[in-house]
Parts: sequence; structure tokens; C-alpha cells
Amino acid sequence: NVKHLGNPTNTIEILDKYGFSFQKKYGQNFLIDENVVRKIVREAGVTKDDFVLEIGPGIGTMTQILCEEAREVVAVEIDKKLIPILENDTLSYYNNVTVINEDVLKLDIVKLAAEHNNSEPIKVVANLPYYITTPIVMGLFESKVPLDSITIMVQKEVADRMQVGPGTKDYGALSLAVQYYAKPQVVLTVPASCFMPRPNVDSAVIKLERYKEPPVKADNEKLMFGIIRASFNQRRKTMTNSVCGCAELGITKEKLIEALEECNLSPTVRGEALTLEQFAKLSNILNARGT
Ligand code: SAM
Repeated sequence: NVKHLGNPTNTIEILDKYGFSFQKKYGQNFLIDENVVRKIVREAGVTKDDFVLEIGPGIGTMTQILCEEAREVVAVEIDKKLIPILENDTLSYYNNVTVINEDVLKLDIVKLAAEHNNSEPIKVVANLPYYITTPIVMGLFESKVPLDSITIMVQKEVADRMQVGPGTKDYGALSLAVQYYAKPQVVLTVPASCFMPRPNVDSAVIKLERYKEPPVKADNEKLMFGIIRASFNQRRKTMTNSVCGCAELGITKEKLIEALEECNLSPTVRGEALTLEQFAKLSNILNARGT
């Protein structure tokens, strides 16, 4: 019979049994609320057809529920001390899970999806260590992993940043990058009391549903994201100063002002006022002129 871990008693029992101590450097805050765990899995839309990649299973609290709902689960955990707990204890009851002891940022997920899911779109579910949220999410999008959706627990501010549009203080390069690749939706906010140990920040679960085609057409994605990053690197500067000040891009003031005009934008506009569509149009004009 399987013992679910989603409560303080069963979590502490496992931690004590193995003398496990939390490692701050790995962002270890384990969920201790089964309702929250089940809600995340439900919002991820996991079914018996699905292959799920879980990043950072911890002691396997959410992995257990994923194993019960999915066809197959691969869980990638960096902390080698957790591997025997997962393999010999908390996940030993399940025969549809593989635990990999690896840094997810070093893992070839394209290969993983080919081997386990015929390169069909996979679902990623994770309660992430907050300091690697952006590299993980951007890595998944940019590496062309076949992706259905990413459903992840993140710091609440980061969830906000991912889903806002122009004219808000949270709007920035991350918002635009996420919204180019996926439809973001915050599906749950989670109080600190649902974790052990308690984090100092509020958390939220955001679901990113991968678009089949991006909502805007960028002829040169690299150029568009270069312009976006330059615009927000110095967000209080006008675009003519921030973008043209970026030597790497090699865009002259003259060229930029001309392109802005063509988009009906003022030469004194700031990046934070532009929509994704406007960044795409601007970069397409500059790209066509061989910038
Ligand atoms: N999923 C568990 C839960 O909800 O209780 C644990 C969540 S905890 C916030 C994050 C987990 O990710 C930890 O187990 C940590 O060791 C692991 N982790 C941290 N950095 C990682 C990395 N680069 N690759 C894989 N796992 C990582």
C-alpha cells in the first residue's frame, strides 16, 4: 500500500528515516499539502496518455500523484542524497517512473522526449527552485523540445511577470519571451505554509501552453530578442538610446528612428510601451534593411 507524502507527518517521517537535511543551494522547499499537489497535477491536465517530465522531485511528493495520473514519468533530481529515498522507498511502488540524478540544465530533453515519447509533445510539471526558473523555462522553449505545456510553481512575482502586458511595472523581456512561445495563465496561488521549510516569498503555479505557431511573425527571432533585451536592460532610457547604445546589435539612430516612424512610434518611446506585435514589426523592418 502506498503512503502519500503530502502532509507534514509523512514528510517528517521520511526526512527523519534518512537523516535528510535541506540544502539551501538547491532551493529545497517541499510541498506538504496533498490538495495543492493534486490541484497542480489536475491543472497540468495530465492523463494516462501523457509522458511527464518532472523537474526536482524532492522526496517524490508530487511524483507519486503524477505516476498515478500519467502514462509515464521521468523525474530529474540534482541532489544525489534524494535518489535512494525516491528509488527504494517513496516511488518503489510505481513501475512507470524513472529517476535521473542530473542537473536538468545539462540534460538532453530533446533526446529524452524521443526515447520516451516518440518526440511527441511532452508535459513538464515542476515545483521549481526559484533561482533557475528563467533558464529552465527559456531553455525548454529555445531548445525546440516537443512541448505541450509547462506547469510550474514559481515565485509569485515571476508568475506575474510572465503574464502581464505593456504599461505595468512587471512587464519586461521575460514577459515577451514567454508570450512569444506560450499562452500563460496563473492557475493557483500557494501560501508559504504549504511548504517545508517555509519560503520567504509567495508562490504561484503558472501554466504555459506552448503555441503551435507563435502569435506574431518574427523573420529574425534573434534580432527581435536582441532588441527586446536591449530595450529592457536600461528600461528608463528611450529606445533610441538603449537599443542604439547596444554595439552588438549595430543599429544606428537614423535607422531605428525611421523604423519606429514606420510603426507609428515616437523616437522617444520606451521599450516598456511596446507590445510583442510591435517588437516583431520593428525587428522585421530592421531585418529587411539588413541591420
Ligand atoms: N517537487 C518537490 C516538492 O514539491 O516537494 C521538491 C521541490 S523543491 C522546491 C525543488 C527541487 O529541485 C529540490 O528537490 C532540488 O534538489 C531540485 N533541484 C534544484 N536544482 C535542480 C537542478 N538544476 N536540476 C534538477 N533538480 C534540481
